[in-house]
Amino acid sequence: MLGQKSETVILLTVLSTSTALTRKLVIKMNRKESKKRYSQTERGREVSRKANRKYRQTEAGKEVRRKGAKEYQRLYPEKHAAHSVVRRALISGKLVRPDHCEFCFKECKPESHHEDYSKPLEIDWLCIECHSKQGVKV
Ligand SMILES: [Zn+2]
Repeated sequence: MLGQKSETVILLTVLSTSTALTRKLVIKMNRKESKKRYSQTERGREVSRKANRKYRQTEAGKEVRRKGAKEYQRLYPEKHAAHSVVRRALISGKLVRPDHCEFCFKECKPESHHEDYSKPLEIDWLCIECHSKQGVKV
């Protein structure tokens, strides 16, 4: 009899615990979902940008960026080499960055776009919007 009673108590405890766990899980999932929705708003993106900017100033943030740059260099050696050639050419004055996009003529600080990384100095100067569309096309 005593054994049966304690089994009931155990069963009730398990049930109430699982309900509490389910409730916690639902809360956690809602929090995750609303956090995701917030991150897609302009305010959420600005908060994230600010936090990232702050993180990049820390030693850990700098280390992550160094590792990322090394990984990019390892994965895309031809892109890295082409970007280095452009950077040096800009510093030496061999290349001059125009003040507008060559595609849509918008006034901006255009990015260099390579059709062929084996020809590092053959570039198109594109605004961020036009450059990202090129990236999708390729
Ligand atoms: Zn453009």
